[in-house]
Amino acid sequence: MKANLTKTRELLSQYREDYALCSKCKICHGNHVQEVNHARFFRNCPSGSRFRFEAYYASGRMELARALNLKEIEVTPQYKHALYTCMECGSCQEQCYPVKQIWPLRVIELLREKAVAEGWGLLPEHEPFLKNLEESDNLLGKPQAERDKLIKELDIKDASKDKCETLLFIGCQYAFKPAMKDTLHAAVNLLKKAGTDVGVLGSKELCCGAPLLELGDRDFFEAFATENIKRIDATGAQEVITLCSHCASVMTEEYASFMEVKPRHITQYISAALEDGKLKASKKSKATVAWHDPCRLGRRLKVYDEPRAILDAIPGLKRVELERNKGNALCCGNGGMAGMTYPEFGLDVAKERIFEAEFCEIDTLVTSCPWCEEMLQGGIDGRKSKVKVENILTLLDESVGGK
Ligand code: SF4
Ligand code: SF4
Repeated sequence: MKANLTKTRELLSQYREDYALCSKCKICHGNHVQEVNHARFFRNCPSGSRFRFEAYYASGRMELARALNLKEIEVTPQYKHALYTCMECGSCQEQCYPVKQIWPLRVIELLREKAVAEGWGLLPEHEPFLKNLEESDNLLGKPQAERDKLIKELDIKDASKDKCETLLFIGCQYAFKPAMKDTLHAAVNLLKKAGTDVGVLGSKELCCGAPLLELGDRDFFEAFATENIKRIDATGAQEVITLCSHCASVMTEEYASFMEVKPRHITQYISAALEDGKLKASKKSKATVAWHDPCRLGRRLKVYDEPRAILDAIPGLKRVELERNKGNALCCGNGGMAGMTYPEFGLDVAKERIFEAEFCEIDTLVTSCPWCEEMLQGGIDGRKSKVKVENILTLLDESVGGK
């Protein structure tokens, strides 16, 4: 058995060279020009594009870190606004690192950890989420017992009692939000059709802790992570499949080295099942769709091809690429807890993404992350757009004869 610990902690000061060497070249403000067909879609830092001042781009946030480290400035409400409007989408790092070997996203994450450790971080807007996690072990503040009801509803094994090869980690949003139930049912349908010996943890599943890590509260995150690792390993499953992109990235980056069970996002599992012939999509679709790369699944885990392969397996479906795709994808507006903290700002970003979907003349924006699905739906409503947003699993389940 491996020890149930989480990673050795890094400190902001370890990235001193990164923020000191930032040359303010502004490569992090947008995508590589040669990879974007229209100037309209060049800009790709959500907070910089919205608030425009330098402090809202990675280049400015590197300066905020440097100046704070040297005690040249004090933390003000404006400083905190610049810190917590970052969507932690990683677009800046995607552009900066290959050219400059500098890690701006990591600097921003560690600046948030420093803020919490020193007691000046977090905002009143974050309190409801922290209270929910403290009192209910999930982000939504729902009774955990509701998760047990899902075992019967889904007609699935209780992995805390019965042995199973594969554990499905549902995540807070798919477990509790009525609008997301279709996705949960589609996931279980597909896993059963693929012959997967699958179970869930019911009320023993806790929040993965991703929101806490995004807010910079690593102590609180580790409390969730260590307990989840213990409970996941106790199932004896061979792998754990996550429905949510945030759960997938946290398990891969933080849990995996301390856990016996191997994590994978469901799009990775399902694309392999299609390739192995365990699933076959047969019902034709007339939709024209594009894949919206969730930041956590795409830029962080480099899962770009698998979701596209799933869409390409649906007969008749026409798949096009958005202008900003793969490493250049625009965040949905709900990353880094910024959309939850500043909902109007999050909605602005989502509306921009929906504008891009309209520009590319698609009917449906397909994704596989509850944060993206919810925020993009807000963008659709806000623009009164005809574009739809759909989870990739419901789309596929329909084609393999789901409901
Ligand atoms: S963070 Fe990187 S890309 Fe941005 S200004 Fe600094 S060195 Fe340039
Ligand atoms: S992580 Fe995203 S929102 Fe934050 S500075 Fe980088 S590009 Fe901008």
